[in-house]
Amino acid sequence: MAENSLPTNFVQNAIEEDLAKGKYSGGVHTRFPPEPNGYLHVGHAKSICLNFGLAERNQGLCNLRFDDTNPTKEDTEYVDSIKEDIKWLGFSWDDRCFYASDYFGKLYEYAEKLIEKGLAYVDDLSAEEIRAHRGTLTEPGQESPYRGRSPEENLTLFRQMKAGEFPDGSRVLRAKIDMAAPNIVMRDPVIYRIARAHHHRTGDAWCIYPMYDFAHPLSDAIEGITHSVCTLEFEDHRPFYDWLLDVLDFNVNERPRQIEFARLNLTNTVTSKRKLRQLVEEGHVRGWDDPRMPTISGMRRRGFTAAAIRKFCEEIGVAKSNSVVDVAMLEHAVRDDLNLKADRIMAVLHPLKVVVTNYPAGQTEYLVAENNPNGEDGSHFVSFGREIFIETEDFMEEPPKKFFRLKPGGEVRLKHAYIIKCEEVIKDEAGHITELRCTYDPESKSGGATANRKIKGTIHWVEAATALKAEVRLYDYLLTTDDKGNLPEDFIAGLNPNSLEVIENALIEPWAKLTAPGKHYQFLRTGYFVTDPDTTPEHLVFNRVVGLRDTWAKVANK
Ligand code: ATP
Ligand code: MG
Repeated sequence: MAENSLPTNFVQNAIEEDLAKGKYSGGVHTRFPPEPNGYLHVGHAKSICLNFGLAERNQGLCNLRFDDTNPTKEDTEYVDSIKEDIKWLGFSWDDRCFYASDYFGKLYEYAEKLIEKGLAYVDDLSAEEIRAHRGTLTEPGQESPYRGRSPEENLTLFRQMKAGEFPDGSRVLRAKIDMAAPNIVMRDPVIYRIARAHHHRTGDAWCIYPMYDFAHPLSDAIEGITHSVCTLEFEDHRPFYDWLLDVLDFNVNERPRQIEFARLNLTNTVTSKRKLRQLVEEGHVRGWDDPRMPTISGMRRRGFTAAAIRKFCEEIGVAKSNSVVDVAMLEHAVRDDLNLKADRIMAVLHPLKVVVTNYPAGQTEYLVAENNPNGEDGSHFVSFGREIFIETEDFMEEPPKKFFRLKPGGEVRLKHAYIIKCEEVIKDEAGHITELRCTYDPESKSGGATANRKIKGTIHWVEAATALKAEVRLYDYLLTTDDKGNLPEDFIAGLNPNSLEVIENALIEPWAKLTAPGKHYQFLRTGYFVTDPDTTPEHLVFNRVVGLRDTWAKVANK
């Protein structure tokens, strides 16, 4: 797409204003800063598209930075999955993968500088006491009795903290700002704590760790980030971001600027890493990449394409206030993308046997089936014989008026093949339909004398002798309630008990045997499907990506 035809957004506008003022002479530089404490989800996809997208659009760079300042929750498994997901989405950080922990040494030096300037102090109050002293929105906080310590004393104590001379939680380092500040974040925030925790990268080298609010602005500044794009909950933290860079003398025209945007919330979808972890750990799903999960790895396994997710992120735009996006819009983007790419095949999910009584036993013929209506993806052969299977629901013994599929004495067209007529219904002792006896019109296939005979319904089918058995997994939303982005803590109680339906014995065209995991199909009349990684040569497994019905297109066209 041409650069100037991209829809603009307020972050891009802010960047252009900065550049017009002559700021950031070195060019635009953004970052995507995940905390490696879980797998990325669809909300992160939005942040990735935004940050890497802004860099691309302004001929700049985007770093990947792991915000690993909280050692107890982090793990290299998450680091690896995050890298894989970003690459899969189609973005590259080149050689710029960094870790906040790379800067622990520098961050420590900045903390000493603050102490020397009289702008930070060691506080002996407990976490509880600090909370109690903080005040409220309407009342100012109370100063700690340790606030008046001299820079020399603070420096000695801070070095002792670092040397491991005090127990965990016994002291903290706080910025010295203003306990009466209207913004609570500015009431002497804690910037270092003592925690003897093993870090996934620095091991046991440190027993003090910087707080996120201290590490983040400085990591941005160290990397030469120009625009630090984050979600709205950090708006109140921006004054501290700016204060810190100010007092540490970072050049106003080159130092990073924080800009907040609204996080993505989706209907029927969990977008909190913590809650997603709960789903995994309590076994409500098979893992982080369960196709029902809105994680990037879950969406990938489900068969959502990277192109569709990127398109969706572009279409929803960037907002300044929180809202909830209809998940149907994401599904619409997926359908739109797969429509052009997915090969069409026939698959019968709930088979009902049909014997074509006037078709010679032992005869097979091959009919041509187009792979995609775009006409550019070639065709394949479909075999036809005396015994076939159709979808159970495509036959009704006592159908309502407008039922244009198969009924006793009625005719229907078999896709790519002949018109058949139902002559007899066979039932077992319990009265269940086990088989249909039909006749076919030999002249009704493509090119035949009655090929164009008017028949209201066309159904899909597979030949009994050659069809392959397949396991088909159908998914529904994990959440049936529309949570408006505010999921209650006990959301587990409201989980959809029918979010997974497994069909063990579906039948598909043998053409799909050549399938590798991740290959997309449209099962005619049924939906979009993808081969699951569980597939083996002996056991085919398909996931339903999305159905064919597009509720979003309907809403959007109203
Ligand atoms: P969660 O609330 O799910 O735990 P998080 O914000 O703690 O997410 P991080 O790893 O810190 O997760 O997020 C990395 C980046 O992705 C941050 O810049 C964050 O603002 C952004 N991000 C997280 N969730 C969303 C979302 N729903 N929409 C847009 N951006 C998001
Ligand atoms: Mg976070």
